[in-house]
Amino acid sequence: MNKKVILLTGASSGIGYETAEFLAKQGHIVYGAARRVDQMESLKQFGVKPIHLDVTSQESIDEAVAFIVKAEGRIDVLVNNAGYGSYGAIEDVSIEEARKQFDVNIFGVAMLTKKVLPHMREQHSGTIINVASIGGRLTTYFGAWYHATKYALEAFSDALRMETKDFGIQVSIIEPGGIKTPWGFIAADHLIESAKGGAYEKQATKTALGMRKQYEGNMMSKPIVIAKAISRAVKSRRPKTRYTVGFMAKPLVWLHAWLPTRWFDVIMKNASL
Ligand code: NDP
Repeated sequence: MNKKVILLTGASSGIGYETAEFLAKQGHIVYGAARRVDQMESLKQFGVKPIHLDVTSQESIDEAVAFIVKAEGRIDVLVNNAGYGSYGAIEDVSIEEARKQFDVNIFGVAMLTKKVLPHMREQHSGTIINVASIGGRLTTYFGAWYHATKYALEAFSDALRMETKDFGIQVSIIEPGGIKTPWGFIAADHLIESAKGGAYEKQATKTALGMRKQYEGNMMSKPIVIAKAISRAVKSRRPKTRYTVGFMAKPLVWLHAWLPTRWFDVIMKNASL
């Protein structure tokens, strides 16, 4: 097996945690990055190396990348996975929170990518895997800012692939559907909190409770399905540009492409997610 040096963000929970474990078990050298380093202690048993990283801090990014390059001499794969869903009506969500959403989900990706690219260019090899969402292809009720970041990440990744191809760098986008992680609860909390006492409270609360119910249930896919898709991209010499996987991912993208927009709006408004 071709052993690779991998930097993976958002490794303290959900998809990132599962992916760090899966890739380490395959023999790769995995640096699992997140702010909550304590949450990654248990990953050490699989050989994962936890590293502190706040993707919104340039200083933190500089330190993390320098540490890995010093220790390993290279970074073969960057998995930009850290992210959260800042749900809430546009009227309710402060511009400050909207900026924070962009800072984590898109500018964090950009800052880390810019830091890693010179090393990959020098090696004339590397793979960058960006965990977007089917939420970068369609929009759910009360998810304006989240989707704005994921649509942006889709465009960013496509541009990055064209720019870096000649330097031997591959770029893939992972588009998960519904995956059973704390993500849904965090998004629902934001939605309830932002709507309190406002004009959208009734609908927002109903939607948030629906989201919680979905993420508590067993319909969602397990994070391992995304870990496996990421692993396929890591292994491949010519990875797919997009991996659309997980609960309802393909049917929803297909419906969005073919249904009249207002019909799709009705489905989303009643789907609670
Ligand atoms: P989780 O909430 O389980 O994990 C989110 C991860 O992001 C955590 O490890 C968290 O680490 C990290 N993170 C958040 N903010 C920062 C920050 N400022 N700096 C560094 N790390 C940060 O959610 P998922 O595993 O589900 O989400 C992973 C990715 O998958 C996200 O980009 C999400 O948008 C995407 N996704 C998820 C779907 C789902 O249904 N679950 C569907 C589609 C896409 P810490 O707080 O310790 O820093």
